[in-house]
Amino acid sequence: MTGMTSTARPFLNRRLTEFGTTIFAEMSALAVATGAINLGQGFPDTDGPEEVREAAVRALRDGRGNQYPPGPGVPELRTAIVEHQRRRYGLTFDPDTEVLVTAGATEAVAASLLALLEPGDEVVALEPYYDSYAACIAMAGGTRVPVTLRPDPEHARFRLDLDELRAAVTDRTRLLLINTPHNPTGTVLTRAELTAIAELAVERDLLVVTDEVYEHLVFDDAEHVPLATLPGMRERTVTISSAGKTFSFTGWKVGWLTAAPALVTAVRSAKQYLTYVASGPFQYAVAEALSLPDTYFDGFRADMRAKRDLLSAGLAAAGFAVYRPAGTYFVTTDIRPLGETDGFAFCRALPERAGVVAIPNAVFYDHRDQGAPFVRFAFCKQTAVLEEAVARLKALSAQGHQA
Ligand code: PMP
Ligand code: GLN
Repeated sequence: MTGMTSTARPFLNRRLTEFGTTIFAEMSALAVATGAINLGQGFPDTDGPEEVREAAVRALRDGRGNQYPPGPGVPELRTAIVEHQRRRYGLTFDPDTEVLVTAGATEAVAASLLALLEPGDEVVALEPYYDSYAACIAMAGGTRVPVTLRPDPEHARFRLDLDELRAAVTDRTRLLLINTPHNPTGTVLTRAELTAIAELAVERDLLVVTDEVYEHLVFDDAEHVPLATLPGMRERTVTISSAGKTFSFTGWKVGWLTAAPALVTAVRSAKQYLTYVASGPFQYAVAEALSLPDTYFDGFRADMRAKRDLLSAGLAAAGFAVYRPAGTYFVTTDIRPLGETDGFAFCRALPERAGVVAIPNAVFYDHRDQGAPFVRFAFCKQTAVLEEAVARLKALSAQGHQA
C-alpha cells in the first residue's frame, strides 16, 4: 500500500478535486481543538422532542426497522409525509408512487441530480449554495450556473435578481436547483419571486429540485411557499425536506422527497445504488414526529426566533453588519465594519480572538470574491451558549478600537 500512496497521481478524481474536506468538518474540528463555542456547523446542541426519541427506542425494541426497510421508505412514514404535505400546504401525493424516503436531504439532493442530469447539462442554482450541491452536480457530470443573491441594503436581505435568473437559462439548462428558506443567507423567497421562478420553469420546460429543509423555520411576516403549490409546478418539481432540521435529530439522517411518479421512479433508481435504504427504526419515529400537533412546530419556531434575535443583536453590538434572517437557523454577517475583508482568515482566527467558530460564506460561492466579507453564525444552540458567545464576541469591537 505504501507504494500506492507515493504515486504522483492524486487519488481524488478530477470531478472532485475542488471539494476536499467540507468546511463544516474543518470548522467543527477547529472548535474541538480550541474549545471554542461552535456556531459553525448547523446542528442543534439539544435533541428534539422526548416522545420522538422514545418512539425510536420503541421501534428498536419492537424490532421495527432493524432489518432493511422497504426501498421507498416504511409505509407509516410515507403516509405521514403525505399527510403533512396535505395538512400544511394542500398538496396531495400518493404515498406509494410519489414519496421517497432518503438518507437525509443530502441523499435526496444527490440522487435527484444523479438521476435527472445528463453529462453536460446545466443546473442553475442560487449562489451562495449549500456545499453539497456543487459536489453533486460535479459527480453527475453537470455544469453549475450560479445566480448570485446580492445584499439589498434597503431591505437588509439577500435578494434574487429575476432578470439575472432568466438570463442564466440556456438551451442546455436541465434544471433549477432552488433552496428556500435559504442557507446560508436566511432569505425566504417571496411568493412573487417563486411565481417568477415557476413561470420561467414552465416557459423553458425545466425540472426544478427544491430544497425546503427549513420549511418550518420562517419568522415574522415571512411565509414558506412550496414551489410545488404554484401553477404548472406539481408535475415538474422534486421537493426535498428532512427530519434533521425540523425535529432536531440531524444524526438520524431521515430525509424525503415528494414528486410526480415518473420523477420519483427516476430518483429511486439512483438512490437504490447509493444507500439502498437507511435509518430503519428512525423512520418510524419520524412518522410520529410529523404527526405532532401544531403547538410543537409553533413552539420550535418561536424558540428559534428568540435565538435569532439574541444572536443578531449580539453580533450587531460586536460590530458586525447583520442580515437578520427571515428563515433558517443561520445569520449571515458582513465583517467589513470590523475592518476585515477576508472571511476565511477571519474565521480561522476567530477561535483565538474570541473563542467562537463561524463559517466563511465564501465556500458557498463560485465567485469567491463576492462571498469574501460574509460570515455565517448558527443560532440553533442553547440560550446560555448564545449569551456566552455574544459576550465573547464583544472582544472584537474592543480589539478593533485598539488597532
Ligand atoms: N440542505 C440544506 C440547505 C441544508 O442546510 C442541509 C443541512 N442540514 C441539508 C440539505 C442536509 O440535510 P440532511 O442533514 O438531512 O442530509
Ligand atoms: N447543513 C449544515 C450546515 O449548513 C451542515 C451539515 C453538514 O455538515 N453536512 O451547517
